[in-house]
Amino acid sequence: MNLASYASNPVKSQGRIYKELQSQSRNDFQRDRDRIIHSASFRRLQYKTQVFVNHEGDMFRSRLTHSLEVSQIARAVARTLNCHEDLCEAVALAHDLGHTPFGHAGQDALNFCMQMHGGFEHNLQSLRIVDQLEKRYASFDGLNLTFEVREGILKHCSLKNAKKLGDIGLRFLNKKQPSLEAQIVNLADEIAYLHHDLDDGFRSGILNLAELKELMLFEHYASQVESDFEELSDDKLLNETIRRMMHSIIDDLCKETMMYLQEFKPKSVDEVRESPRIVRFSETMAKHLKEIKLFSTNHLYCHPRIIKMSFEAEETIKRLFNFYCEHFDLIPSTFLKNTDCEERAVADYIAGMTDRYARQCSATNAI
Ligand code: MG
Repeated sequence: MNLASYASNPVKSQGRIYKELQSQSRNDFQRDRDRIIHSASFRRLQYKTQVFVNHEGDMFRSRLTHSLEVSQIARAVARTLNCHEDLCEAVALAHDLGHTPFGHAGQDALNFCMQMHGGFEHNLQSLRIVDQLEKRYASFDGLNLTFEVREGILKHCSLKNAKKLGDIGLRFLNKKQPSLEAQIVNLADEIAYLHHDLDDGFRSGILNLAELKELMLFEHYASQVESDFEELSDDKLLNETIRRMMHSIIDDLCKETMMYLQEFKPKSVDEVRESPRIVRFSETMAKHLKEIKLFSTNHLYCHPRIIKMSFEAEETIKRLFNFYCEHFDLIPSTFLKNTDCEERAVADYIAGMTDRYARQCSATNAI
């Protein structure tokens, strides 16, 4: 790995909460990635909703496949910019661990239920999982990850919550940036979901090619593909168009970021943290991405079929929350040991459920 001076370096890591001996065969970021892969929360991502609930079909993205796609994009960008690929991979694989079942609808419902008890936010929950909720190691709770991976996981945070988080929350209070690797994963997440949601939307029958061609970038590459290949099936046209779109966006991100690296010339991670945000899209590309976001909101996320799924999901989460708040004894005791607040234990328990386990609990408890 050819590391630039501005890249994060495991040898100079700000360390773990609990001190550990160094591994002879893996650097600290590789160890963190491996801990994440072996965690129960990571395995459960397989059965958690991205946009389409898990029981809608096997061909749609789950949180697991989304996280793998984010990791692939982030690693490719990191390699081009001589940043640390292993750190990007670890952050990408962990960034969605805290998601509830049923995607954003599930989070909104759980946040609503937790209003009187500090709320619920999936990003904070991801950190809570790796810091506390995973129970695998004899010497400590959580995964005891390095500061750099934890910093990358905490993408956003309210000032109120940041004050409670110690060193990891400081950058929000001091208005500083995280490492370049964290910045890369943040935008890789955006690139991944914006494109795979178009793909899943098409496969579900909700979006069609004529609608997709309303998007300037999609139209540009679709007509390029149509002139390069005659008589292409709709599936191949869509795949090839999305492939070219992603290629151009990743290329844009790398070139634009290179420009800012040359402008700010950070010589260390500390200087990256002091600089304005360095990893960026060009203004033109940012406008295209904004257009895709708006398009997906109007045509996909607000489609009656998705709204119906979201409504059912919210009802299930609220029913589960109310049920377990009246039956704390039915929650595995480990959850109650993590917190003084019984409602937080209920939220931790429900947030950790897969879509199908939540449905099953809802059905078997006849709630
Ligand atoms: Mg994500």
